[in-house]
Amino acid sequence: MKKVAFFCIPAHGHTNPMLPVAAELVRRGNTVQFFSFDEFRDKIEATGAQFVSCDAYLPPLTAREEAGLKNVSTTEMTLQDIRITRNMDSFLAEAFESFRPDVVYTDSVCFWGKLNAWKHHVPMVISTSTFAFNQLSSQYMKHSPKEMADMILGLPKISKELKTLKPYGYPVKGALALIQSDNQTDSIVYTSRQFQPFAESFSDHYAFVGPSIFSDAAPQKTKERPLVYISMGTVINDRPDFYASCIEALRDLNVDVVISCGHTMDPSSLEPLPDNVQVYPRVDQLALLCKADVFVTHCGMNSVSESLYMATPMVLYPQTGEQKAVAKRVTEIGAGTLLSGESIEEIRRSVQAVLTNPAFGTAAQTCSSEFRACSGVAGAADFIENAPHASNGVDVIAELNKATVRFRCIFWALTIVLFVLTGVFFGWRYGWIVAIAANILSRLLGKAAQKRTYAALLRKLH
Ligand code: UDP
Repeated sequence: MKKVAFFCIPAHGHTNPMLPVAAELVRRGNTVQFFSFDEFRDKIEATGAQFVSCDAYLPPLTAREEAGLKNVSTTEMTLQDIRITRNMDSFLAEAFESFRPDVVYTDSVCFWGKLNAWKHHVPMVISTSTFAFNQLSSQYMKHSPKEMADMILGLPKISKELKTLKPYGYPVKGALALIQSDNQTDSIVYTSRQFQPFAESFSDHYAFVGPSIFSDAAPQKTKERPLVYISMGTVINDRPDFYASCIEALRDLNVDVVISCGHTMDPSSLEPLPDNVQVYPRVDQLALLCKADVFVTHCGMNSVSESLYMATPMVLYPQTGEQKAVAKRVTEIGAGTLLSGESIEEIRRSVQAVLTNPAFGTAAQTCSSEFRACSGVAGAADFIENAPHASNGVDVIAELNKATVRFRCIFWALTIVLFVLTGVFFGWRYGWIVAIAANILSRLLGKAAQKRTYAALLRKLH
């Protein structure tokens, strides 16, 4: 029997998929200590794990910092991650000393979990509540200009804050190294290989176990009329205008509508409601998705996974770069359509499109079958119990990087030769035109070469 220390940031979307894994490990007789926050105490204790409260180590927030976190600012979340790690240092040193975990199971963006596993030399498994993102799959993320500005302007602050971790003995290389998935770290991803973008680029340190949920209920879609379920998740869900537009769009359709609006706004502000619409601060989402015919979603990874698990096609309304990546993958498999705006007509058109075209439901059903064929929470528990894992396979990303370096060396060597020859024989003005053209071409050719190398590597692998 193993002693496993769980770590997660204070967020439902990151905590939820870890819960069935904790319950399964406890059921098998392992001891699980779950380091989390009071808001999550009840659901953690319901798994049988020992809850360890970390609220005392949350730094006080200014109004600006609070607003940044609420808007899911990458800079603000990273700064808080670092500050919490610092605050928890001696508490976790004692906890590691007294509990002596055999394995650490930590969320992929929970710095204090990762850094303490490294510092105390305990085998670590990463819980990845989104897709696994490496240099290939992160191409799916399209950040808005606001998100880009937040990340670029935040870099100096983040690197300054990261330096404060060094005196505590944490081996920090950089924020990206702390967040991005690599091919050497044991990681659990709660999706199927079929749904993960560029799945073949991940080594066998990765276990794609399928959605981690407390239900093996089959979809039950038979009822008098279609059910439309609407939720913007648990983080940025204070969207009264959007819910009001949904109500207006769907009030005259022959459908039932359930909206989960979150705890930040007052559901009664949407009243009077038409007879076919119900609004709640929170619902049993899986129970609803089991029956729902369309899910209007913000494309959080958990919500989309739950929807596909229950074979429910979607109207996709992503808000962040990460959610856009999930939405893009859903459209690729044909299980949903993108909502291009918040107008009443667009919402009605999109919901009707999904309701009337059975191809969306069929694609969701196919994905549901693939999810259900995954190893699930039992597979996740096996993977954690048997960590650390060895990998003998080819590291596709390392091979790809080698090929990229080779390509760049040859490309720039040829460019220099061409620059000099053109300069000498036709004049340096033309030489510089060649150099600028080569600079522009290098990006395009680089991408094409990477694509070709990736395809060749995959052919070699199979
Ligand atoms: N959820 C729920 N009831 C609700 C709304 C959300 O149980 O009324 C759960 C949902 O099942 C999912 C999680 O909250 O597991 C939301 O996670 P997701 O990754 O989709 O989005 P986030 O809230 O992190 O943006």
